[in-house]
Amino acid sequence: MPVVAVAVPVHLNRTFDYIYPEDEHIEAGMRICVPFMNKQLIGIALVTKNDSDFPLEKLKPIINVLDDTAILSTDMLAFFNWCADYYHYPIGEVIAQALPVLLRKLESAKLNSYTFWQLTDNAHELTVQELNRLTPAQLQTIKLLAETGLTQSHLKLANIKSTTIKSLQDKGLISQEYIEIQDNDAQHWRQNLVISDNRPSLNTEQAITIAAIDINHFATYLLDGVTGSGKTEVYLNVIEKVLKIGKQALVLVPEIGLTPQTISRFKRRFNVPIVALHSGLNDAERREAWLEAQAGVAGIVIGTRSAIFTPMHDLGVIIIDEEHDGSLKQQETFRYHARDLAIVRAQRNNIAVVLGSATPALETLHNAITGKYRHLQLTQRAGNAQMPIHHLIDIKNQSLDSGLSSEFMALMATHLAAGNQVLLFLNRRGYAPAVMCHTCGSMAECQRCNTYYTYHQSRNILHCHHCDEQFPKPRRCPSCNSSEIMTAGFGTEQLETMLNNHFPQYPIIRIDRDSTSRKGSLEKSLEAVRKREFRILIGTQMLAKGHHFPDVTLVGLIDVDSALFSSDFRAPEKLAQLFVQVSGRAGRAAKQGEVAIQTHHPEHELIQDLVNNGYSHFAQTALHARSMASLPPYSFQALFRAEAHQFSDANEFLVEIKQLVQEHNHNPQLLCLGPMPAPMEKRAGKYRLQLLLQSPQRQHITLLLRQIMPKIEALKSARKARWSLDVDPTEML
Ligand code: ADP
Ligand code: ZN
Ligand code: ZN
Repeated sequence: MPVVAVAVPVHLNRTFDYIYPEDEHIEAGMRICVPFMNKQLIGIALVTKNDSDFPLEKLKPIINVLDDTAILSTDMLAFFNWCADYYHYPIGEVIAQALPVLLRKLESAKLNSYTFWQLTDNAHELTVQELNRLTPAQLQTIKLLAETGLTQSHLKLANIKSTTIKSLQDKGLISQEYIEIQDNDAQHWRQNLVISDNRPSLNTEQAITIAAIDINHFATYLLDGVTGSGKTEVYLNVIEKVLKIGKQALVLVPEIGLTPQTISRFKRRFNVPIVALHSGLNDAERREAWLEAQAGVAGIVIGTRSAIFTPMHDLGVIIIDEEHDGSLKQQETFRYHARDLAIVRAQRNNIAVVLGSATPALETLHNAITGKYRHLQLTQRAGNAQMPIHHLIDIKNQSLDSGLSSEFMALMATHLAAGNQVLLFLNRRGYAPAVMCHTCGSMAECQRCNTYYTYHQSRNILHCHHCDEQFPKPRRCPSCNSSEIMTAGFGTEQLETMLNNHFPQYPIIRIDRDSTSRKGSLEKSLEAVRKREFRILIGTQMLAKGHHFPDVTLVGLIDVDSALFSSDFRAPEKLAQLFVQVSGRAGRAAKQGEVAIQTHHPEHELIQDLVNNGYSHFAQTALHARSMASLPPYSFQALFRAEAHQFSDANEFLVEIKQLVQEHNHNPQLLCLGPMPAPMEKRAGKYRLQLLLQSPQRQHITLLLRQIMPKIEALKSARKARWSLDVDPTEML
């Protein structure tokens, strides 16, 4: 009896066996509709075999096969299996989240052409006798097609088997027609490749770098280049080499970096079809883009982190721009890191992967220093832009107006008067991070999260940024009934109000999650800034990366102190990256830029090191500190998180995991720390705890998890808590 192992999109860490008829053709990578519990689900065939670990009589039959040929290559299936195994995440869900929504349904996976079945003239002329000789299935098919022609997926949806279709076709009763929507010759661009002449001549460093990148073999290259050093120009040249040998390029950019400007820079250089996988695509467009990448119709695919799962016809290079960027790591459900997966994929395909950044992640830098990656450097800004001048503004004992010192305001006035733009950076949205009663001192606090409400003046509401609770700001203090309610601290909204009063002649724009929540509004705002419709820009970290604002000559970091004293061991790295990236926004064109940092701790080591010695020196110091503390990249981690309304439910579950670890771990170097409260101990009424595994060898953790995960999933206590495993966590939250 033929059996097929199917990856079903359910949160269970295994595949499911089904039997199927002998005359059905199934190969790995085809979509199969199967019964599951009381539902029908669409899974992917992984292996066909003649036996099962389960008693054959207990196996259910498949419902039907949706595709004539595999929609996922064995290569992609092997990659997905690797992901499932490494992140201990169910294979069915790994594949499901990699597929466009429409392909998780009964939609055709054929590119722009529909196999359209219709009755032939012979069928219309069938006599009653001839009709009676048909099988019931054949008759049913004829009846269906008598009304109108149908696509393959429609027939499958109606439970018509491929064998039935085939038999009717053999009898000459039905015929198929391919309906092409447009010309999709995958060879077209390969034979007509044109590369624009409108390009800068490379400087020496760029030329050396491009020559060093061997596109014919696997290697990871760290392209470590200061902002504005022409990294994108290097990418374009590497892509050119790849396109010339007929292969495709996959480019990953940060969430915020996938702008029309980025895409048009690639379009201006090459005449190949470019597919951009951005959040603005609808389901049909996403399916189309995915299929074009897979068929080789697209020469270049640009997307955010999930684009790493795009199947490619002939992948020639992977480029990760801003490889240090946090958005490359998915922080919920399937917690993968797209940079790490890019390296895995490049290795499997024996191609180059280029990681570009002005502020490489310490993990990446460590791999470059130890020789695992090739370290390529661009030390000069391209063209004739200068590095910015830095000011440390000591705000101890200074009177501040909504957080701004008079020294900074004076700098602003100078730059504005010279006709330039000014960017203020503050990573705190809203008007004020807390409200307080002036009479009794009580603070408005979210009881479900144990944190203060943020005040948003524009809507006059209190908002908990953790559980999203919001309500109108009370007129009176709930404790003492006083009407004197004041705000404490300041956010972007307050800066905007104050600067509007102070510099009424200069138009101001605020760019944060509140002001850009509508689709497309961020692009509009960025465009307006570029057109100089605004002179003062206030932004959160959304504004920190990848935007060219040639007229911004002054950047202010308004509050860096909270990052200096964080409990997160990655906070200094993040602050340093932010500082360098924001500095990179100042004076990109011919104008000299200035960067001002307001701090109560100008003497702080980190600030001094960064300002005086630059990122790479800072990174060495930080790596040394990590090494002393045995923290990543000198160790590897996996984090179990659990949350429950009862503290004890979350705690007991993690204690049981710890017991399993202790039973199975024979390696003294592998540490199991906790259970301990998460940095945010309570959120939306639930207690949050974590348990950390740490070892100098990645393999120790992988092997241990492989042993204990099935046991953890079977624990009774696992049902009382919401829990997850994060392999290589980047946030402890
Ligand atoms: P990065 O990606 O490193 O921030 P870009 O590739 O965006 O840098 O380059 C910054 C600016 O310098 C762009 O306007 C780009 O067109 C220009 N540029 C890049 N390389 C050169 C070069 N060799 N000569 C002149 N200008 C260049
Ligand atoms: Zn009060
Ligand atoms: Zn809350």
